[in-house]
Amino acid sequence: MSSAVERLEPGLVRFRLVSPTLAPVNVYAMETGAGWVLFDSGFTYSTDQLCACLAELGVGPAEVAAVFYTHTHEDHMGGGVSLGDAWGCPQYVWEGTRPAFENYYDYYDACESWRVWLGRRMAPSEWMERLRQLSSGRSGKAFRQGGDGLLHGAVGVAFGEAVTVGGRRFRCEDARGHDPFHCVWHDEACDRLVTGDIVLGLPTPLLERIGDNITSYRATLQRWQQAPEPALILPGHGRPSVGLGRALERSLGYLEAGYALTVGFLEAAEPVEPLGAVLESFETLGPAQFQVAFIRLANTMSQLDEMALAGLVEQREDLRWRRTGPLPAYADYLPLVERL
Ligand SMILES: [Zn+2]
Repeated sequence: MSSAVERLEPGLVRFRLVSPTLAPVNVYAMETGAGWVLFDSGFTYSTDQLCACLAELGVGPAEVAAVFYTHTHEDHMGGGVSLGDAWGCPQYVWEGTRPAFENYYDYYDACESWRVWLGRRMAPSEWMERLRQLSSGRSGKAFRQGGDGLLHGAVGVAFGEAVTVGGRRFRCEDARGHDPFHCVWHDEACDRLVTGDIVLGLPTPLLERIGDNITSYRATLQRWQQAPEPALILPGHGRPSVGLGRALERSLGYLEAGYALTVGFLEAAEPVEPLGAVLESFETLGPAQFQVAFIRLANTMSQLDEMALAGLVEQREDLRWRRTGPLPAYADYLPLVERL
């Protein structure tokens, strides 16, 4: 069995698919009375890896009984689209997942590129060139791969509704924020929760250019704190674990740390130019730090945008930021943004 395939429990397998530029992503396979079902599908360009993993279970895409998606990001839904009509099964998404019912490739191509986003949101500075240098030499793979851009057999499921496959029920639950279409799937028989990207070992990226939203993401984490603890959580990246409550606390902690970092920038020197402030916060800064630096920048901007909606900061015409009044402690900040 290859290192990309890990048998976690009887009837539960994790595939780990890799990319030249992005973090490795998990696909989970669960065995039901009707055959294997998958959760997420990897990158558009990792379908060879996905099919090799499936082959180790003795099936091809045409024999998979169902595919379930947590969200639309390219590392989760890309493979399903790229395999086009190779699937012979329903592919379940939350019913509001617009890109799954349109042309997925066109949807993502219409989103702003990170370079355009950077030019629109950041004041010109020497840091822009520094970031370009960090990103150079990272040759990615083309996003558009196989298929016609459609998710064949896409079926929408309402929040709170369950899909039954081979005698097993999988319930779709609301987890929007990291993606406006994010859901989680609860495997009721084994009490496992497929959590996508809501709780990761690192801060979950919040990218404005693809519609991620910090306020709804935080609300999702807080709402899930009220949920009963499942037996196992299966995240989109990193290792499966027990302890949803602990994972939620850690992710909420990352948001609190992000607020503290942003407040620190504003208190250290105004007006703030977030790109420089973020890159300067790294002790070592090389190409290996590009992805982490970019996520910290994106999340800092999401934080500043939220603070602007709460009337606490403003982005000046020169794209630098200033406070409009005193900044509250985090405990006093939360009630302000709950009403947004
Ligand atoms: Zn994601």
